[in-house]
Amino acid sequence: MKPVLLIHGGAWAIPGGELDPHRAGVKKALTAGYAVLEKGGSALDSVECAVTSLEDDPAFDAGTGSFLTRDGRVQMDALIMDGARMLAGGVACVERLKNPIQAARLVLEKSRHVYFVGQGAEAFAHEHGMPLIDNADLIVDRERARLREAQERERAGLPDSSFSGDEPPQMRRPATSARMDSHDTVGAVALDAEGRIAAATSTGGTLNKAPGRVGDSSLIGCGCYADNLSAAVSLTGWGEPIMKLVLGKWAADRVQAGSAPQDAAQASIAYLARRLNGHGGILVLAPDGRWGIAHNTPHMAWGVCDAQGPRIGTEFPG
Ligand code: ASP
Repeated sequence: MKPVLLIHGGAWAIPGGELDPHRAGVKKALTAGYAVLEKGGSALDSVECAVTSLEDDPAFDAGTGSFLTRDGRVQMDALIMDGARMLAGGVACVERLKNPIQAARLVLEKSRHVYFVGQGAEAFAHEHGMPLIDNADLIVDRERARLREAQERERAGLPDSSFSGDEPPQMRRPATSARMDSHDTVGAVALDAEGRIAAATSTGGTLNKAPGRVGDSSLIGCGCYADNLSAAVSLTGWGEPIMKLVLGKWAADRVQAGSAPQDAAQASIAYLARRLNGHGGILVLAPDGRWGIAHNTPHMAWGVCDAQGPRIGTEFPG
């Protein structure tokens, strides 16, 4: 089986000046994650490696460089799933871990539980060897400025520049809005030489979010899912509609029912837009190596490596 790795670095209207850093970050993560597969490593190790690289890159809304909560802190969520063993590990609302995806992996491997939040998640990760860092180490100046701007807009009564999910429908901008909110969540799906699939998604959530808010990214079947009987899936976008539709599992079910992954990817994003006026992007990978990518945002940072070699972009054709 020829290994396959797909990654994303968020789906939104990426401004011109940020396109190159997004491409560079995707390329680096793709190279690192695919090297794991080429050496005979597992799909699970590959997605963890790719997402760790994206978390460490301040261009993305995950790990270092995440969006700030309305009280100016970084609060992150992550999930990793092994589709061959049907194991999952998730963490939410963690503030003191450099790489939440590694904490999620520890949950998957070392706990009889599946999901930890807040201080319990941090304590679990620490007990298993992860250092606890200062939250300020995850904050970059760009995000301080973005938060200031979002809060100024809020005070001026302008529509929030983050989709907090509780605005009345008339305040929700269409998916093609030039001022589309930043959705820089990162994710990866992989197939290894032994036919195992895995998925991982990691996020700092949405800009100016209320402390304690959890989005779709780390919820099983919402922003991330993997089952060797169906597909591996990772999503990005406005989390509240995605989680209400349990969209990751929706897409995997389509593949299990016989859809090609590209059709399932497009159908999921069309359903998200039609049903809840949502926006975002998705990666879908079947255990036979077929894959699909779709988004209804102006851009989506994506990368693929398979038998045809590596390709990256900031818009997926089709
Ligand atoms: N889906 C994420 C969330 O709502 C945001 C993103 O994709 O960037 O938390």
